[in-house]
Amino acid sequence: MNKKFLIFTDIDGTLIDLTTFDPGPVTDVLPKLQKKDIPIVLCSAKTAMEQIKLREFLNIKDPFIVENGGGIYIPKGYFEDKIIKEISPQIEYEDHYIKICVGTSYKYIRKILEIIKKEEKIYFIGFGDLDVNEISRLTGLDKKDSELAKKREFDETIVEIDKISVDILKTRLKEFGLKLIHGGRFYHVISKDASKGKSVIILKNLFKNKYKTELVTIGIGDSENDYDMLKHVDYPYVVEKKSGGWINFDIFDLKKIKGIGPHGWVNVIKDVGILEGQAPNFL
Ligand SMILES: [Mg+2]
Repeated sequence: MNKKFLIFTDIDGTLIDLTTFDPGPVTDVLPKLQKKDIPIVLCSAKTAMEQIKLREFLNIKDPFIVENGGGIYIPKGYFEDKIIKEISPQIEYEDHYIKICVGTSYKYIRKILEIIKKEEKIYFIGFGDLDVNEISRLTGLDKKDSELAKKREFDETIVEIDKISVDILKTRLKEFGLKLIHGGRFYHVISKDASKGKSVIILKNLFKNKYKTELVTIGIGDSENDYDMLKHVDYPYVVEKKSGGWINFDIFDLKKIKGIGPHGWVNVIKDVGILEGQAPNFL
């Protein structure tokens, strides 16, 4: 039986450079993977709008996991509607996508953050408190991309917070079914039930159903919020950080690959050995 390869990848600091947002050598490797019909599933803290723009730029047509696993976007017709409904009752129809809502809504998260801020008198600032110009200044994104980053559905990005407030917020969020995680640059508030890992499991089931064969999953990340994704793939990889070194995860078989961001990403593909002329070195 033919095995089906599947790649789950983080975006910032992994598929694209953390500060220049450049995919660099990845642009040459992606078409080769697509020619072999290997799905590339983006799995990131980025919003759907941000990922849709990147997918168009890189010509990726596969489902994608948004806002740290808060939601999954599936192009219409990619999987059978009936099966998607069976796997998740929480679906919404967009123009070109079927959206699985894994986490609670952004509106609810913002409401709870306001309550905690008032009650605890702590200090933090989220994307919802900022205008596009301020987001652009803080993130380095241009104004157009900052607008896309502000269109949040499942996860609030906390751009400024002090250490004491982190501890208080972490504790209080639990009461409301929410959690605080760190995404490499900023903190994020998301439903406690949503995670990159949970969304990876949902998609793995859908892919398994589509291809009716054994899946071989490869995961590529660079920071703390990738832990959950990497825990649920067969071959987990981390790329080198811009600041030097690799994140340390307690994951069996985790491979630390040489190369910062997208340079590491292409080295993962080489290491896995799934391109032309390369024998898969782990099968
Ligand atoms: Mg990252």
